Amino acid sequence: MYDFAYHKPTSVADAVKLLADPDAKAVSGGHTLLPALKHRLNKPTALVDLSGIAEMTGIKRVGNAIVIGALTRHAEVANSAEVKAAIPALAYMASHIGDLQVRNRGTIGGSVANNDPAADYPSAVVALGATIHTSKRKIAADDFFLGMFTTALEADEILTAVEFPIVDKAGYAKMRNPASRYVMAGVFVAKAGGTVRVAVVGAAPCVFRQAEMEAALTSNWSADAVAGIKQDADGLNGDIHGSAEYRAHLVGVMAKRAIVAAG
Ligand SMILES: Cc1cc2nc3c(=O)[nH]c(=O)nc-3n(C[C@H](O)[C@H](O)[C@H](O)COP(=O)(O)OP(=O)(O)OC[C@H]3O[C@@H](n4cnc5c(N)ncnc54)[C@H](O)[C@@H]3O)c2cc1C
Repeated sequence: MYDFAYHKPTSVADAVKLLADPDAKAVSGGHTLLPALKHRLNKPTALVDLSGIAEMTGIKRVGNAIVIGALTRHAEVANSAEVKAAIPALAYMASHIGDLQVRNRGTIGGSVANNDPAADYPSAVVALGATIHTSKRKIAADDFFLGMFTTALEADEILTAVEFPIVDKAGYAKMRNPASRYVMAGVFVAKAGGTVRVAVVGAAPCVFRQAEMEAALTSNWSADAVAGIKQDADGLNGDIHGSAEYRAHLVGVMAKRAIVAAG
């Protein structure tokens, strides 16, 4: 390792001040960031550890939404009675992230801010039409994820919570890499009133909405409605784990499973 300063603020305001240094970096669980430091992919001069900020913790129901503090670990979302009752698909998704060790370390804030193409959370955030709360504003899911490992967050902006509206029906299905358990292709479907949203992760450099499936499901909420829809492989990820064509095929299969899971 190499030398860097370590700060552990106890308020969002203090953390923001420390992040004004362009060479400082926020850390939540360190699950992604620490390996990146070890590989010298990131060389901050200061780490701002957010884990002592009480206002970024907790899961609560606020009106017709579930608000999850950014420091909440995947295992807490998976086991939350509040989440299971209001948005069971979200608890299910969290319960299938990585393995037990991963779920006990990784945070929702770190996962969403990192925007790994193979992460699960962006699918739920986009399909449920969530709102990202930050230290300076609220950002709609559709405006948040900009590209591979890129979001609308500014360098000194902290993700403080994610607000998920409670929808009528939602479901999630993914094919995971058998070694890392990261997503090869995952589809999250959600229905709220007459609006259907379908979000895909793992298949492309960034989460995306599958407009053709959304249109089909709006008039006919059933797995049959998407059976004939072929995901275009153009622009999808291809690597040693699977080709773009394979991932395109998986999108169709996972979409059908997600709809069946949603009921
Ligand atoms: C072996 C393994 C398997 C995994 N499998 C999966 C999987 O199947 N599915 C999946 O979705 N994920 C998976 N993950 C990812 C994991 O679940 C964590 O969500 C992810 O590593 C982020 O970790 P973290 O919360 O500790 O964030 P950190 O590592 O602390 O931070 C990650 C990035 O986000 C920034 N950041 C952190 N918190 C904030 C914040 N509140 N505001 C602004 N920026 C912030 C940091 O500066 C850094 O750039 C896996 C990880 C590992 C190591």
